[in-house]
Amino acid sequence: MNIEKLEKYLEEIGEKSFRIKQIRKAVFCDGVSSFEEISTLSKELRNRLDENFKILSFSTESILEAKDGQSVKALLELVDGNFLETVLISPKPGDWSVCVSTQVGCAMGCRFCATGKMGFVRNLTAEEITDQVLFWRQYLKKMQNAKLKSQNDPEKSLSDNGAGNLKLKNLKLIENCKLKIENYDISNIVYMGMGEPFNNWENVSESIEIKICSPSVRVRFPFPLRALRRGLKNWRRNFRK
Ligand code: SF4
Repeated sequence: MNIEKLEKYLEEIGEKSFRIKQIRKAVFCDGVSSFEEISTLSKELRNRLDENFKILSFSTESILEAKDGQSVKALLELVDGNFLETVLISPKPGDWSVCVSTQVGCAMGCRFCATGKMGFVRNLTAEEITDQVLFWRQYLKKMQNAKLKSQNDPEKSLSDNGAGNLKLKNLKLIENCKLKIENYDISNIVYMGMGEPFNNWENVSESIEIKICSPSVRVRFPFPLRALRRGLKNWRRNFRK
């Protein structure tokens, strides 16, 4: 979600500044999927926002779950018709890691990699990168709601109990999961999906700065940042000579 655009819109329609805080909390922390769900806003404002803004900058093409229940992959369609993949992984009980893509395609051309074979198409924006985290937060939230509601009223079907567009197999995945699900929040964000993050550094660093999650969430790269900084320092020093 483009929070700056939203902030500007709220200002234009004369809303108070605390509204942005309410929306930010609901979308970034609580994992709401639509403005309609933000009960702290007036009905009129919710309708206006739903008409004028989208929380996610892509639509869901497909979701595939691994048989062992330890990972889920989503194929998402961007507004320009390109596709990206993102994965939710549970490396250990109680931990959820989101693997985000940073580019459509990749220029690096590693032989073993399907993305490399596509070639480079375009960089993802900071919004498109962070929205992948929001997407999985919404997914986990729906899982949690569906499970709670079915526990309270096991007779009800998932479509009746507010699980939205979650299919039965999604809930079964969590119920049958070999891992003990101790929480439904994200603990890690890893920049290891489609693309080379360092080739889109401006948007990648902006996506890290957007406060999309609790401070306890760890951010990881496919390369050790400390080593990278040290390497850059050496390179600059040598280059100046
Ligand atoms: S996505 Fe990663 S593994 Fe694939 S071509 Fe790019 S750098 Fe290589």
